[in-house]
Amino acid sequence: KGPDPDLAAIEERMRTVKHKVLVLSGKGGVGKSTFAAQLSFALAEADKQVGLLDIDICGPSIPKMLGLEGEEIHQSNLGWSPVYVEDNLGVMSIGFMLPDPDEAVVWRGPRKNGLIKQFLKDVYWGDLDYLVIDTPPGTSDEHISMAQFLKATGVDGAIVVTTPQEVSIIDVRKEINFCKKVGIRVLGVVENMSGFQQKLGAFTFRKTGPDGLEEDVTEKVLAEIRAVAPHLEGLTACTEILHASGGGAEKMARDLGVPFLGRIPLDATLSRAAEEGRSCFTDYKDAPSSLALKAVIKKV
Ligand code: ADP
Repeated sequence: KGPDPDLAAIEERMRTVKHKVLVLSGKGGVGKSTFAAQLSFALAEADKQVGLLDIDICGPSIPKMLGLEGEEIHQSNLGWSPVYVEDNLGVMSIGFMLPDPDEAVVWRGPRKNGLIKQFLKDVYWGDLDYLVIDTPPGTSDEHISMAQFLKATGVDGAIVVTTPQEVSIIDVRKEINFCKKVGIRVLGVVENMSGFQQKLGAFTFRKTGPDGLEEDVTEKVLAEIRAVAPHLEGLTACTEILHASGGGAEKMARDLGVPFLGRIPLDATLSRAAEEGRSCFTDYKDAPSSLALKAVIKKV
């Protein structure tokens, strides 16, 4: 059997891509796509030429998170053209190919693998500093084939996103072992939804009166705090929401000998940026989640 012509085509296509980074998670809903989207925004804002490839074929959320809902892919003689957010930030997703976003994609493995292959082989990215690849959760068929396809071209590594609880961490351990098995370097683990943080001024305070009715006493409480302790103004209050019975992602990373990149708090601002399809580093740059994301990305 001779060399696979598809692999040769992928290798050729990826020649103009300097760095390839996978974003993985063990479970869905932990913030993997949010991280991939914001990482791409951050790299683009640092004047890098960035491509974001969404191969989460059954749940493509990248178009919405980049503010590109309803956009379509065009074809040229060079290949499929990504949809551009900015000149230096192009996006490719199956989400752009579905006539109805409410329609479920029910595909078997071979068809999914075929599309992933096409995404790697037929998209005309041009010269890229970074290709960020958002993958489906778990260690499914798609991962195995993607690992095979990318092996030929070399991938810089994977960033693994998890939430703090053991139910998520257990699956992430599998994910990291998968990476080790297929020879993909783990660039690091990110703990997302790690506690809830708000600046004091962002809280509302309520008090239940003798009649059982709730009264908003925010102004009163804040005025009292300012009067006696003005230095508390910038204070951030934190509380755990998802309980890390096993010590969370940091301990797991230490146990498995992979880098821990940091924690991103649960923060309504990040969910808002994702819903609006915007970068959290421009309009919301002082939010706790944006500051934490920035610190994490710096370490990558
Ligand atoms: P996944 O890709 O792992 O399935 P998503 O990135 O789609 O997860 O995130 C799931 C939901 O959680 C989204 O609505 C997203 O806006 C929200 N989300 C992710 N991270 C945070 C966070 N740190 N704070 C608040 N909401 C978040």
